[in-house]
Amino acid sequence: MLARLLAPSGPARFRRVGRAGAEVVAVPGRYCVTHLLLGPGSVGVVDLGSQADIPVVLDALRGLGRLTSEVCWVAPSHLHFDHVLAIDVLARRLGVPILLGRVAHDASNGRRRLRFPSRLHLLRAVATWPMQGLPFPPLADWRGGFGFGFPGAPNRFHADLLPPLVHGAPLPRLPGWFLLDGPGHADDAVLFHHPGAGFLVAGDTVRNFYGGEWNPLLCDRADYSRTQALIRSLPVDTIFPAHGPIVDGPDPIARLRTTSSWMP
Ligand SMILES: [Zn+2]
Repeated sequence: MLARLLAPSGPARFRRVGRAGAEVVAVPGRYCVTHLLLGPGSVGVVDLGSQADIPVVLDALRGLGRLTSEVCWVAPSHLHFDHVLAIDVLARRLGVPILLGRVAHDASNGRRRLRFPSRLHLLRAVATWPMQGLPFPPLADWRGGFGFGFPGAPNRFHADLLPPLVHGAPLPRLPGWFLLDGPGHADDAVLFHHPGAGFLVAGDTVRNFYGGEWNPLLCDRADYSRTQALIRSLPVDTIFPAHGPIVDGPDPIARLRTTSSWMP
């Protein structure tokens, strides 16, 4: 109800979108949307915030007629708790590696520190919690500890890591998909792009609380401007944000709003 009232776009919904041989399934989770990228006999899992989402994702795979053995990797779009808390648990349960961009890979090996949006920015983000229906962390997330995705968290994965993927690299086992660096909201933010289908799995680089908007929560404004320019140069017909419903229809990138500075 709160999400409906406070976020005009409403809560995220389960959706399956296919085009040009690519397929994405949006599975709304407790803190963020998990995206399943479906390939021929392969599945990539992008973002998994809560351990409570694991059975939901496994159910979704079953419903799609996919085996868990088809999952080839699990990837966070960036190392913030609402996207990464259950990544290591799922990867270990399925016995698959974790896919990271170069910056997140360096951070998880202790070779680089990640910046977070400033305290003022984070204060602004508090209001987005009721907009998402006041998701409360289940016991498993408390028990699992909060070693991932918080300022100063070590982000040490126990599952195997794939070699870091550089900007523009093809996604393993998913033909037509590429990984792009998209810093701004987070130093390590990455985008998952399928130029043939016009799909952009955007993590937190794009949100949808107000019909589709650029994220006002930034750790580096200049980086974010460059990422915006990159996105405007890409063929994109459907945006899959990690918070809120899918943004599609005519020219979704041009329709993205910039929120005023007082808005959450
Ligand atoms: Zn997020």
